[in-house]
Amino acid sequence: MIFRPLKYEKYADKICQKLTEFQNNFRKHYDTENYENWFYNQSSETLRLYSNDKEIYFKYIPVGTFSLNTNSWLWAWANEDSVEPRKLRTLKIKEFGEKKNYEKLTNPHFDGDKFTGWELTSIAFDIIGGIGTYRVISDHLEKYLLLTEQITKEEAEKIESELIECSVHGKIRKAFICQHLNTEQKTGFEEAFETYRGMELDEEDDFQAWCSECEKERLKTDGWNDESMEFAKIKLVCERCYFEIKESN
Ligand SMILES: [Zn+2]
Ligand SMILES: [Zn+2]
Repeated sequence: MIFRPLKYEKYADKICQKLTEFQNNFRKHYDTENYENWFYNQSSETLRLYSNDKEIYFKYIPVGTFSLNTNSWLWAWANEDSVEPRKLRTLKIKEFGEKKNYEKLTNPHFDGDKFTGWELTSIAFDIIGGIGTYRVISDHLEKYLLLTEQITKEEAEKIESELIECSVHGKIRKAFICQHLNTEQKTGFEEAFETYRGMELDEEDDFQAWCSECEKERLKTDGWNDESMEFAKIKLVCERCYFEIKESN
């Protein structure tokens, strides 16, 4: 007997049907069709649906965008313009595609039709999971989102309030570094814990890094104290600046 892997079309069909059922329940449950407006915030990865008398908030992961001008799809992981930290979660789909040899899941950008967006969003939903999916359309661009959880207005505002406005990268998550770290010199890069771009942080965790000299001071005093803190002069930067410095080290 020869084992033949499922052809992409068959696989995609199956997954699309699965999402359709799920999505019907999702729409009913959250009544998502009955809001007049939407607003999404890339930095906090929150989607707000609202009408005059009601509103609802979700956390989302961007899946990708479909351009109605060029009729082409672009995966979120390949989209330089998207600043959502969790866009890199979609690399999981690419990995799956590499294993299965499904080109649509591995090519960053390719031509498609009006079904492409939902097809790939169904697959993203199946691989990454969530409570539902949503599409927003502005001008010529369809943006597909995986909704991961419903949040309250207070939670959405809290996420917002914890962001920093970077003059280069816009409003995104903050990080802490010592005064010596920069992208020009290799100063060493010590971290409070191992980090990677787009990673999710626990409530009490922050991105924190310092140079080798600061590490020496820190060890001398057996952990951070007033003296080593004075030497480090920790400052605030944005998440993307943090990783640019980390990668240049
Ligand atoms: Zn330092
Ligand atoms: Zn920045």
